[in-house]
Amino acid sequence: MGKEETKNEPDGVALVTGASRGIGKAIALKLLEDGFVVVGTATTDEGARNIDSYELQSRKTCIGLKLDVTKSSEVIRAFSEISDDFSSPKILVNNAGVTRDNLLLRMKESDWETVLDTNLKGIYHLSKYCLKGMTRARWGRIINITSVVASMGNAGQSNYAASKAGTEGFTRSLAREVGKRNITVNCVAPGFIDTDMTRNLPSDIQGSLMAQIPLGRFGHVEDIASIVSFLCSEAGS
Ligand code: NAP
Repeated sequence: MGKEETKNEPDGVALVTGASRGIGKAIALKLLEDGFVVVGTATTDEGARNIDSYELQSRKTCIGLKLDVTKSSEVIRAFSEISDDFSSPKILVNNAGVTRDNLLLRMKESDWETVLDTNLKGIYHLSKYCLKGMTRARWGRIINITSVVASMGNAGQSNYAASKAGTEGFTRSLAREVGKRNITVNCVAPGFIDTDMTRNLPSDIQGSLMAQIPLGRFGHVEDIASIVSFLCSEAGS
């Protein structure tokens, strides 16, 4: 019996990386509301267990998985765990991301590598594995969360900006590779959003960022979740 026949997956499986908090959590909750089975990832067992609990809030199937997107062995293991219970994800939201801010002259090589490995190489790993199932289904959505910093730049974030600008180039190229198979590949590039990532910034930096924003406030995670939801829908094709 095929996996689709054994599980109730009305609209298929959506895989959201970094779903334990912030923007990723809001995306996972929105896609559950939209009727998808959601597999969300966190870097810890505790984070993964917390993602399981979204199911109770939404009464839809939500599974938390522990995954470090920088490690191909963990991506392979995660896909094998998903395929034990579900069909291959038809939606992939590459949301997991980190910052390690510093001026370039002071930036350690390890901080450069952590940011590039998480924000860019992670997307390579996940997209490659998801594409197999999407190609078979002749339907897929890959949505990469980048940042306004990719195009505007930000002092102290040369590593982060490089990872996000790299993701935008990756996205445009992959979209050209797989469009004929009815798979769309898009970026969503948020401005500054109220999450742990921005809450951890020193208050003077938060103030100077806020001064550049016409609304005079950081964005909400739900703003980004709504755009991702649209791109996953037929209207967003
Ligand atoms: P956040 O609150 O700091 O959450 C980051 C998420 O990424 C967490 O779920 C974290 O998991 C996960 N993660 C970190 N390293 C990982 C790894 N190696 N493997 C797998 N998952 C990992 O961040 P956020 O503000 O929601 O940001 C989400 C995305 O939006 C990021 O790509 C970020 O660059 C982008 N973005 C954010 C803003 C903003 O202002 N907040 C603006 C533009 C773009 P754990 O909980 O297990 O650590």
